[in-house]
Amino acid sequence: MAKIRVGVLGLQGGFLEHIHMLGALNVESKIIKYPEELEDVQALIIPGGESTTIDRLMSDEFRQSIVEANKSRGIPIFGTCAGAIILAKKIHNGKEWQKPLGLIDIEIKRNAYGRQIDSFDTVINIPSLGTLIRAVFIRSPEIVNIGPKVKELANFEELPVLVQEGNVLVSTFHPELSVNPVVHKYFLSLVKS
Ligand code: GLN
Repeated sequence: MAKIRVGVLGLQGGFLEHIHMLGALNVESKIIKYPEELEDVQALIIPGGESTTIDRLMSDEFRQSIVEANKSRGIPIFGTCAGAIILAKKIHNGKEWQKPLGLIDIEIKRNAYGRQIDSFDTVINIPSLGTLIRAVFIRSPEIVNIGPKVKELANFEELPVLVQEGNVLVSTFHPELSVNPVVHKYFLSLVKS
């Protein structure tokens, strides 16, 4: 595959952990703070953090550029935790001004597992990738509904925690905090060669 460069949205939150994970996989990455910086990346990661803050910091032009990069240029997008909220079609308990991008047909509920103190880690199975992975949940959202075209790749306590629709991948946990890079590798496989 030709060399690819992955953009990581760097407005707020845990973007550096994704940059480190990509570095460990020997993949070039770039922190994206302005919409025009999306032009020379072939994939985009929206990290965890605080979805309301990321939302506030994203201009309409930025939103438009992300949607177009996916819909017109076909670049895959991976959202973790707050990133999943940003990409969802509907937020159950979002702020009234939160405008999710609607790039994946899921309904999501913010802070579903409780407060910061209720954050936890566990081991989940990803059958299609043939592996177990340590999954860290930090004030994670819950995917409460998925549309007919959305594939569930992993679940925890009967709720989907890793789902995909076309080239949009979403997790409610933080694969970038695991030593197992399998989810990032899978995401990179969605980039057209
Ligand atoms: N609770 C955060 C939110 O609503 C998400 C937490 C995270 O990304 N770890 O945006």
